[in-house]
Amino acid sequence: MRLRQRLSKFSLAGLIAALACCWTALAFDEKPAADPTATEGDKRPIPAAFQLRVSRTQEQLIAAGGSEDTERAVAAAINWLARHQNPDGSWGCQKCVERCKDETCKAHAQKAGADYSAAATAFGVLPFLAAGQSHLTKGPYQQVIRRGLIWLAQNQDPKTGRLGSGLMYEHGLATMALCEAYGISGDPKLKAPAQAAVAFLEDAQNDESGGWHYTANPPTAGDTSVLGWQVMALRSGQLAGLQVNPKIRLKSKLFLKSVSKGKSGGLFSYAPESGPSPAMTAVGVLCRQHGGCQADAPEMTEGLSYLAANQNAAHLNTYLLYYATQAMHNLPGKQWEDWNKATQKALIDSQIREGCAAGSWKPKDHDAGPLMSTSLTALTLEVYYRWNPLYGAERKAP
Ligand SMILES: [Zn+2]
Repeated sequence: MRLRQRLSKFSLAGLIAALACCWTALAFDEKPAADPTATEGDKRPIPAAFQLRVSRTQEQLIAAGGSEDTERAVAAAINWLARHQNPDGSWGCQKCVERCKDETCKAHAQKAGADYSAAATAFGVLPFLAAGQSHLTKGPYQQVIRRGLIWLAQNQDPKTGRLGSGLMYEHGLATMALCEAYGISGDPKLKAPAQAAVAFLEDAQNDESGGWHYTANPPTAGDTSVLGWQVMALRSGQLAGLQVNPKIRLKSKLFLKSVSKGKSGGLFSYAPESGPSPAMTAVGVLCRQHGGCQADAPEMTEGLSYLAANQNAAHLNTYLLYYATQAMHNLPGKQWEDWNKATQKALIDSQIREGCAAGSWKPKDHDAGPLMSTSLTALTLEVYYRWNPLYGAERKAP
């Protein structure tokens, strides 16, 4: 069946096209000196892990827990992201409000603190990539995505592969974006920058603790929050078909063990000496799942039950919700369905619908302005097709 026939009247593609009619496209007169992106004819086949993004049916979306309302919210969110891109193709956690049409976004921008351009540009492109769109996908946002990816690749350190200012938070997020762009587009010109970013990330690990911290090769053991972005970036690289050293991911389990808490080791803390928290448990559980933890392991049951008990707290923390929803989605069953139902309602109800801020979400705890809150919330509502669940539906709910 052709893709066009599979798209329903409320498909994301249709919503995107409708929203884009109201949006004035940016001008693309200046061609960058070195365009790391390919033309349609060069691309390689899309890996299986990315297939659901580009060819999902309406039935698959609904079976996975999504709906017309979640797709409408995602379409509005990526429209907001496109409208808040910088002229040079990057995004900025602070600068995202410089071209606003009114004051509705600015009311929430003061929390950003800095631009974090590499991380911000990753926040900008990741929801497009999760929705199944790349710089090779014909559509209203093709050039938005292309310009974001070009900015990332052109601002990569050519010697080390480092992305961003040196903060591993930034590098991990930007690596994830390049890896997923390579995976979904199959564009061979993205392979070298993505692979170099993976190599820098691997080299930056603390050899003894298996963790990552604010800067590369830290003298400190690391923390769970920084580790989460690195481990998931490596996972994106692996699924995209890039070379990922299995020893690095294996060693990261050492750090996770050092911060695991609870009766069964299913809760996680920020650092070895601190106590468990819902946010760090969400990160730890997701990393454990992608590290091969069994669905019926006591630590899995303990971690997910703890997250389920803290769902109200999760609705106040975009970051926690982003990780926890992925962890819940990986294990189909009643616990996931209950989580999804409440989360969907909270996110759809809280999306801003008026003015320039339409499609965005107000920053909450641990946010870096509306760019981060909108990106991570859109990705949370794209959980139904960003990745396949890691475990089958036969798992019993705890
Ligand atoms: Zn705005």
